[in-house]
Amino acid sequence: ATMPPLLSAIANAGRHGVLVKSAVVMEQVGATDRVAFDKTGTLTEGTPRVAEVRVLPESELDEERVLRLAAGAEHRSEHPLARAVVAAATEQGVEPGRVDEFTSTPGRGVTAKVDGHVVQVGSPAHHVPEGDAAHAVAELEEAGRTAVVVVVDGTPVAVLGIADRLRAGAAETVARVRELTGAAPVLLTGDNARAAQRLAAEVGIQDVRAGLLPQDKVAAVRELEAAGRKTLVVGDGVNDAPALAAAHMGVAMGLAGSDLALETADAVVVRDELATIPAVVALSRRARSFVV
Ligand code: ADP
Ligand code: MG
Repeated sequence: ATMPPLLSAIANAGRHGVLVKSAVVMEQVGATDRVAFDKTGTLTEGTPRVAEVRVLPESELDEERVLRLAAGAEHRSEHPLARAVVAAATEQGVEPGRVDEFTSTPGRGVTAKVDGHVVQVGSPAHHVPEGDAAHAVAELEEAGRTAVVVVVDGTPVAVLGIADRLRAGAAETVARVRELTGAAPVLLTGDNARAAQRLAAEVGIQDVRAGLLPQDKVAAVRELEAAGRKTLVVGDGVNDAPALAAAHMGVAMGLAGSDLALETADAVVVRDELATIPAVVALSRRARSFVV
């Protein structure tokens, strides 16, 4: 017997490095006519580095203490930014502080009790900094960094400037996706608008939606689909999981992504390459042309 086209397409997708979870998915992914990309960990490598630590002048803490508290708070988060903070501490020989309580809010950041202090590390959009903190945030974002604010016992003590590299082939993939779907690709991100615009310009995306919480990503996907477009969402984070579930197709980017994204997605890119996304759409279309 010969293998049914959808099954050989699944096998083929596997060879390309994409785990397609069912024959229905293999068939439906070819119907995609718009693609929405997450930013951090999807269009970027997701191995960001802390490029700058700006300890605020009014803070009584030194850089080492700031890193100890921030790394303690981030220790249990699987977010790429959290890993960057922990790595920065490790590189400077600073041990993360002792953590008692920990909560993470997708799209915002983390709160933890570290060395007896309440430490928050996260998006400036939600800690609303003023004065020196706001100034540092604006400067870092202008330089294309993701600014993360460290707040200790309710007082902002530092702003971290985090830098992430574009994935290899990102611009080519965006161009290929545009060609395959005949629609402008979209960027959906929880990060700030300045960093988002800058990256979008580099990869050739014009439709940028920034500062989105997980539920805002869902609303954006619903809006795209209400406009009559079957949307494929690519994302890596816990913050992307609801959008992956809501979309026509949800694809998790890379095994380094969060477990929730991997579980929720219809397909998982196991070979960490963006080019696999248009490849799998094309494979589906070829298989569909054989299915009656
Ligand atoms: P993206 O949609 O680009 O993948 P996220 O939604 O995961 O970004 O995060 C949005 C923003 O929330 C980040 O830019 C950062 O400011 C903040 N954030 C989220 N999680 C963390 C964390 N663990 N540590 C610090 N900041 C975080
Ligand atoms: Mg992400």
